[in-house]
Amino acid sequence: MATLLAPFGESPLLCVRPSSEDPDWGGPGAILNIGMNDALYVEFCDVLGPEAAAQIYLRFVQAYAIHVARLDPDLFEGIEADGQEGLSAALKAYEDEAEEPFPQEPSVQLAAVLRSMARAWEGTTARLLRQAKGAPADAGLGLVVQQMVFGIGAGESGSGVIQLVDSATGQAQITGRYLSQSQGRDALQKGAAALFLEVDERGPSLEELAPEAFSALKAYTALMREKLREEMQAEFAVENGKVHLLDGVRISRSARAAVRIAVDLANDRIIPREEALLRVEPRALNELLHRQIDPHAKRDRIATGVAASPGAATGRIVFTSSEAQASAARAEPCVLVRRETSPEDIRGMHVAVAVLTERGGMTSHAAVIGRGMGLPCVVGASSLVFNLQKKTLTSSDGRVFKEGDTITVDGTSGDVLVGEPAMLEATHDDAFLELMEWSDAARDIGVRANADTPNDAITARNFGAEGIGLCRTEHMFFEADRLTPMREMIFADKPQDRRAALERLLPMQRDDFTELFRIMQGKPVCIRLLDPPLHEFLPHDKVGCRELAEALDLPLSDVTRRVEALGEYNPMLGMRGVRLGVTVPEIYDMQARAIFEATIAASRDGDPVVPEIMIPLVSAMREVELVKTRIDAVAAAVRTETGEDFEFRLGVMVETPRAALRAEEIAPYVSFLSFGTNDLTQMTYGLSRDDAGRFMSTYVQQGVYPEDPFHTLDIEGVGELLEIGATRGRKAEPDLVLSICGEHGGNPESIAFCRNAGFNYVSCSPFRVPVARLAAAQLAL
Ligand code: PEP
Ligand code: MG
Repeated sequence: MATLLAPFGESPLLCVRPSSEDPDWGGPGAILNIGMNDALYVEFCDVLGPEAAAQIYLRFVQAYAIHVARLDPDLFEGIEADGQEGLSAALKAYEDEAEEPFPQEPSVQLAAVLRSMARAWEGTTARLLRQAKGAPADAGLGLVVQQMVFGIGAGESGSGVIQLVDSATGQAQITGRYLSQSQGRDALQKGAAALFLEVDERGPSLEELAPEAFSALKAYTALMREKLREEMQAEFAVENGKVHLLDGVRISRSARAAVRIAVDLANDRIIPREEALLRVEPRALNELLHRQIDPHAKRDRIATGVAASPGAATGRIVFTSSEAQASAARAEPCVLVRRETSPEDIRGMHVAVAVLTERGGMTSHAAVIGRGMGLPCVVGASSLVFNLQKKTLTSSDGRVFKEGDTITVDGTSGDVLVGEPAMLEATHDDAFLELMEWSDAARDIGVRANADTPNDAITARNFGAEGIGLCRTEHMFFEADRLTPMREMIFADKPQDRRAALERLLPMQRDDFTELFRIMQGKPVCIRLLDPPLHEFLPHDKVGCRELAEALDLPLSDVTRRVEALGEYNPMLGMRGVRLGVTVPEIYDMQARAIFEATIAASRDGDPVVPEIMIPLVSAMREVELVKTRIDAVAAAVRTETGEDFEFRLGVMVETPRAALRAEEIAPYVSFLSFGTNDLTQMTYGLSRDDAGRFMSTYVQQGVYPEDPFHTLDIEGVGELLEIGATRGRKAEPDLVLSICGEHGGNPESIAFCRNAGFNYVSCSPFRVPVARLAAAQLAL
């Protein structure tokens, strides 16, 4: 090129590349071939040929017109012709529209390009867009002025992009395209006759065309990875067979790829492990742990509700749990659609692939159970009209869906979609497991899981939970074989009848606990004594009452009367939790006995078990004293009867504001306090966890609450109660074990709060355990 004019010293032409701190923050595109003008064009025609010269000049004229002179891009739409003809048309279009000839002075061109890029970065829309992506208000933009490498000209010349890993999986795989006689990112344009980089059976490649250039390109890109400590997408040009790297941006990546890239960089000793841990956003792990809708799939949305339990699933609509069971028996995946779910629906939830409800928020029954089971769930989809009589769902745009129609529930986004979009499967690959191992080595707060069933416990163990922090025992009583003795117990008039029913339940509970202890292999298991109001176990309609009357051999009127008598105006504040334990103590006696007998059985042929027993909904010290006395008596009786010794720990669930305030007098009776922030949030705000979904979005939109407090721990209010409870409890008992087991337990922000307050562990749904492990590790780094 020595014969060319060189307006910029050595170099005939320049390019300006914007360089922002984070490519996600946007910014203007690069402008190439600055300095090109009529005089150079004549020179280029001689040296490179008229085609190449026109191509280079035309690219600059168009870019300058659109991005610098801000002319309408449509102006160039009709210019189809290549070569001189196209160039002349573009120059004329410029002159007509800008009412001046295309600027010929290279220094004027360069100054205008730099100014326009700075202006584009400072524009209001650009500023708002990058701030929405978390950029600081004073985020700056670098402008790199570079000598042009043409990519057009003699020998093998061209341009392309390369990256060394696949953006979706993070697996090593050379990805990119190369186009001969091209510039910039032309190789990526639709319809471009671009080559693969590496030898590929689908078509010709740069490796075959120019093997030396290809191997140099690979080596440069690998060097870039090492020096910049990141997987980069490199933009490159080949000029007469020689490779030049022009630009590099951090590759965009899925969560799955982010994990593998971070782990591989650490294993290649390019970054330390601690940095690998910090590079993965804990919540992004959800994407790996659940099936997801393929981001490229078309979404035909019929409603959006609260994204209550992540993952996506497709199935046919069913409106009741028994239909769900029938559908499962036919091996037809189904979505259970309910106004809201109650403990009775647990059977349907077990067989459904997803749940959709009209009502409810983040801590409604469907949401809590869905998350526990890893079942995709959208709640509070109130824009859908649920007609349970006609068994239809009507969307706000008037479409009607019947039982049997196929829908998809996306519990990650909260969307409900028609039909069956393409899905991406969950993976727990080696990179994920390695990252989890490093997290465990780094963190200093424990992570347990809330698990009620053997399946939950297996999931919890597989996801690395250090134990069970909350086993809600009520679900065990909704199994078909348990419900009748449970109802008999509730209906019993005389203590001996109640005892007889409980004796039938005892061996079942013992087996439940033995299995949980065995699955958890000596890791701690914290069992919560029965919590819900008893009427939840009773039928809610005439048909159910008739069936119950038959099963118990009682007159229907008796059954109806008893069911009505057990009804409460405000059951969440009524006869539930420890209030049951005080008024019908035989239930807790039976559960304690089952726990102790299971402890002996599981310890006999496995790791020694030290069960933890937790009393729910405590609000007064005397409640604890009463229950503790009875549980100690049951323990003594079991020890005497069996001749075997065992240990156990008793604890209180702090779910009422009063329990937090009175923690100092409660603590001496127990070895642990576990904060149940679902009920504690409900009671602190005086906000129903089952009904708040109706107005929560309005409240959040209007800034009454910064976020849904059932989703994000209210640090100011509920958090203060946690701190008070923790401080007062530890004042009385310095070794008191403290934990959180409400739904907030898996949120990175709550984990940070609990760690600062000196908690020993957090407990969350099994599927959130990996998120919690990584979040906890990041806090300790
Ligand atoms: C709680 O209230 O925070 C809790 C964990 O118990 P549940 O959700 O079963 O009421
Ligand atoms: Mg509770």
